[in-house]
Amino acid sequence: MASFPPRQLYYKGQVQAASSGKTFQTINPATATPLADVQIASNSDIDAAITAAEHAFPIWSQTPAIVRARILQRAANLLREKNDEIARVETLDSGKAFTETSTVDVVTGADVLEYYANYIGGGGLNGDTIQLREGAWVYTKKTPLGVCAGIGAWNYPIQIALWKSAACLAAGNTMVYKPSEFTPLHGLTLAEIYTEAGLPAGVFNVVNGGGEVGAYLTTHPTIAKISFTGQVSTGMKVAGSAAGNMKYVTMELGGKSPLIICPDADLENAVDGAMMANFYSTGQVCTNGTRVFVPRSIKSSFEKRLLEKIPFVRAGPLFDEQTNFGPLSSRPHYEKVLEYIRCGVESDRATLLCGGLEKPAVPQELQAGYWVKPTVFTDCTDDMRIVKEEIFGPVMSVLYYDTIEEAVKRANATELGLAAGVFTRDLNQAHRIIDQLQAGITWINAWGESPAEMAVGGWKKSGLGVENGHRGIEAWLQNKSTLVDMSGCVATAFAKL
Ligand code: NDP
Repeated sequence: MASFPPRQLYYKGQVQAASSGKTFQTINPATATPLADVQIASNSDIDAAITAAEHAFPIWSQTPAIVRARILQRAANLLREKNDEIARVETLDSGKAFTETSTVDVVTGADVLEYYANYIGGGGLNGDTIQLREGAWVYTKKTPLGVCAGIGAWNYPIQIALWKSAACLAAGNTMVYKPSEFTPLHGLTLAEIYTEAGLPAGVFNVVNGGGEVGAYLTTHPTIAKISFTGQVSTGMKVAGSAAGNMKYVTMELGGKSPLIICPDADLENAVDGAMMANFYSTGQVCTNGTRVFVPRSIKSSFEKRLLEKIPFVRAGPLFDEQTNFGPLSSRPHYEKVLEYIRCGVESDRATLLCGGLEKPAVPQELQAGYWVKPTVFTDCTDDMRIVKEEIFGPVMSVLYYDTIEEAVKRANATELGLAAGVFTRDLNQAHRIIDQLQAGITWINAWGESPAEMAVGGWKKSGLGVENGHRGIEAWLQNKSTLVDMSGCVATAFAKL
């Protein structure tokens, strides 16, 4: 028996039944039991959602920025008021501990909404004026793109929906959003909050379903832009399809990010950073620092301190305030992560420092869930599969190095470039290393914080474009340049004819 009523679609400002007659189930990963039946959008349902967004576009794009700002700010306030209620559902749907969802997931989404409300309310969408000569100048205008699509991953469900929709709607676009089929429950909640905040009908719409719903959006002629978060392999398909249809894209994809600990680093801080970068959200964070480069000279002290701290990663009932480590988010993902751990032991032959294939000790009622232990492999080498491929689970690979130059070179030897970080007490060294690391999101003596002001996006195969910060909204706008000449003559070869 599912615990929530069936979930439908949302367009034209209201909940709508899907016409496909098909549903899928979303599962509570802590217990492996069904949470809700979710109706799958047919192509004609997606068309209807897109038409609703198309009709809403002239109204919303011509609404003065200051009025749009007020509505978005109201939505941010509502999200904060309903924080615990939304976080509760996110915990059930995604398997993240409530200590996380109630302090991070909704909050960091609402922050971005508020940031862009302030940004557009304060004139952030103004263009430039460029004086050319007496009586002639150029002015530029930032205009929205039209109907855009957001396609989300399952690891930060409502945060991803907000990071996409906040900038999209602030810029004056309308959106059709498809959540991941593994964590879809937030979609309708967010749509209802936007409506309650005063967003006109059709500005934010939700279609549920699997990859085929996302794929349909990427080829639809009305959609001007796709903002996608997911795996590199899916991102390549989405970008290819969007390019063939000349759509704008933003791609937030996977990573295999390096974290370099320098010999002079504060060991306590560095070990905490490595744990944060691998075990937060059970390792299901795109920016995870899964390749931890440690100087060979501090191998034993690093490993000793890491092992002493592992018991602070506590699996257990997700609403218990002591729990800070949930299960993996779905059965297929659980099987994938176990396969990588098996590969680390059997094929890569790395040294298993802790964790492994056994489930952590959790109460009887949770034992069917998708639980794994925080796992650390040491003595890893760059050619191991666990070191090269994104696992997206709580699996740390520790790699030892002799010189900083070597660590930087090895850190960059990957096709991915999402995040990177360095731990050192020497600030000159920190900036020198960060400067050489090929990644779009970097940290010095910290890991993971991603405030609304900080533009984030990957280099190389980890993505295209950025979300958040001033730069993030530019990806939802197009430029119009207008040259004005008041002299009355046209400056061309025909001017004297
Ligand atoms: P997927 O690529 O499997 O799926 C992402 C979304 O795309 C889902 O909604 C999925 O639908 C949909 N989709 C699947 N096939 C297609 C298609 N052909 N066309 C259009 N849409 C499609 O990623 P995951 O959900 O497994 O997410 C995990 C990945 O996301 C990791 O690699 C992680 O690093 C990355 N990520 C990146 C972030 C960043 O900011 N760089 C942030 C968060 C995660 P469905 O699953 O419903 O079938």
